[in-house]
Amino acid sequence: MADPFRFRVNQHGPAGSPVREAFVPANPKPGWVRLELKAMALNRLDLWTTEGLPGFPLPLPLTPGCDGAGVVEAMGEGTVLPPGVELGGSVMIAPGLSCGVCPACLRGDDMLCPAYGVLGHVCDGTAATHVLVPAANLLPIPPNWDFEQAAAFPLVFLTAWEMLVHKAALRPGETVLVWGGGSGVGSAAIQLVKALGGTAIAVVGSEAKAMKCWELGAEHALVRGDLKALAAKVRDLTGKRGVDVVFEHTGAATWGTSLSVCTRGGRIVTCGATTGRETTFDLRALFAKQIQIRGSYMGRREHLWSLLSLLRRNPTNPPFRPVIDQVFDLADYPAAQRHLEAGQGFGKVVCRVP
Ligand SMILES: [Zn+2]
Repeated sequence: MADPFRFRVNQHGPAGSPVREAFVPANPKPGWVRLELKAMALNRLDLWTTEGLPGFPLPLPLTPGCDGAGVVEAMGEGTVLPPGVELGGSVMIAPGLSCGVCPACLRGDDMLCPAYGVLGHVCDGTAATHVLVPAANLLPIPPNWDFEQAAAFPLVFLTAWEMLVHKAALRPGETVLVWGGGSGVGSAAIQLVKALGGTAIAVVGSEAKAMKCWELGAEHALVRGDLKALAAKVRDLTGKRGVDVVFEHTGAATWGTSLSVCTRGGRIVTCGATTGRETTFDLRALFAKQIQIRGSYMGRREHLWSLLSLLRRNPTNPPFRPVIDQVFDLADYPAAQRHLEAGQGFGKVVCRVP
């Protein structure tokens, strides 16, 4: 194995600017473990760590990376491991950290904890050969999955599950418009909508991506193009009534269309704003159609265990799995960031640790 190394953001800069450095992995404190990482996956949050976000200060220097999978190498004194996890065993990481003692944490809403943050934002993340994480953030790897699949799974599936099940309260038979069906979270949403008995209409940027959305289980996959024409197509596909749920993460460019294709009494759930974070809209559309808008960020750590139990029920034909776009060597982490930023891929960008 290579000498331990990590990528570091010493000051904010463009995607791809984290700097490689050698380091000596620290010993875990009580309640924490050290993992020897085998794979990590990138998210938009990695780009925030690198590029910085106004009004969202991060404690630099910092190693980016929220998602990872590896082997438990060392445990802090007195640390208790979750069920199915053992020293020397293979694990994946739940990306959210919280205080564990506030009212939100005590009722299980850890993502509403005032101290909530993700790995790679509040402490060093997974763009490294080793990482320190709380033992409570470990989960066994789903049956028959390799480290790359395990690393690509937690953040986007947790996000999509929270949005569809807990924020939108999706019911079987309902229709969901999924923007950005080729993104990590979009490709997770398409599969979860199908697994939950809904109908997904995916929106993507190309015919090639549309084909892949069909393969994932989308009932329809539309190439974005002109948004007015797209809205008309969605209304046609839904017998003029519009969709029950809009799965939003694209933001300013699509927000008006999301309102226009959402049916009366429908729900718009959003977890991102990749095309712009400020928008205006006609409030009359909101109240006249009685639309509910709900914001979402990550999800309860416990829900990863729910997802894991669904995967264990059918290990040879799991109802959903992460879609991997491209695997880089961890040494090429900056190139992986630039690839994610370019947005041309389909699914998750992963780094394998040499
Ligand atoms: Zn808390």
